[in-house]
Amino acid sequence: MSVQATRKIRLIMELRKAGIVDKDILAALERVPREDFVPTTFSDQAYEDTALPIGCGQTISQPLIVGMMTQALKLGDRMKVLEIGTGSGYQTAVLTHLARRVYSIERHKDLLLEAEGRLKKLGRTNWTTKAGDGYKGWPEQAPFDRIIVTAAAEDIPQALIDQLAEGGIMVAPIGRQNDIQTLVRFTKHGDELDEEELSQVRFVPMVHGLPGEPGQANGTGI
Ligand code: SAH
Repeated sequence: MSVQATRKIRLIMELRKAGIVDKDILAALERVPREDFVPTTFSDQAYEDTALPIGCGQTISQPLIVGMMTQALKLGDRMKVLEIGTGSGYQTAVLTHLARRVYSIERHKDLLLEAEGRLKKLGRTNWTTKAGDGYKGWPEQAPFDRIIVTAAAEDIPQALIDQLAEGGIMVAPIGRQNDIQTLVRFTKHGDELDEEELSQVRFVPMVHGLPGEPGQANGTGI
C-alpha cells in the first residue's frame, strides 16, 4: 500500500473516533483524493487533519470540519445542495458523492478554475459552479434542500435563508473575522429558523462582491 493510502486510512479512522460515524460520509471522504486538492508542496500533509493554504489567501478546510459539516447537513441522495465558497473544490467533491446535485459559488475566479479542473479530472458530473458573490446565493436554482457555507459571515445572509427550501437545513460558521466563530445549523420552518450551535470553528471570512470590483472588498475583508 502507498504511503498516502496508509495516511488516508489513518485519517479516516481518526475522523471516525472524533464522531464522523456516518458510513456514507466516511466512504465519500475515502473516495476523494485530498492530495489532488492541495498545492503539490503540501502533498505530504494532505492526510493530516489540518487546513492548508490553496492560494488567494484562502484555505482548504480541515478534514474533521468537512466531515462535521457534511454530517450536520443530514444529506439524502435526492437532494439539491448549494455550497458557498468552492475554494479547492474538496468539499464540493465530497458532496457530489452524497447528494443529487451540488451548486457551488466562489468569488475568486482563479480558485474556481482550478477546482473545476480537479472535479472534471475525478470524473464527477453532478455539480455546477459559478464565479459570484455567495451573499446573493443562486436564485435561478433555488430552492435548495441544503446549504453549506464554508466562509464565516457575521450574520446569516438573508438571500440564503430565502433560497432554502421549507424544512431545509443550512450549516454555516457565524462570527467575526480573526475570531473564533460558531458553527450553526439552521432549519427552516416557515418564517421561523431553528438554530443549533454545533462547535467552535475558525474560517476565512465571507467577503462581499468580487475581487477587483470598484468599491468592493480586496480579498482580505478590510
Ligand atoms: N470549501 C472549500 C473551503 C474554501 S475556504 C474547500 O473545501 O476547499 C472559503 C472560500 O470561500 C474561499 O475560497 C473564499 O474565496 C470563498 N468566499 C469568501 N467569500 C465568498 C463569497 N461572498 N462568495 C463566494 N465565495 C466566497
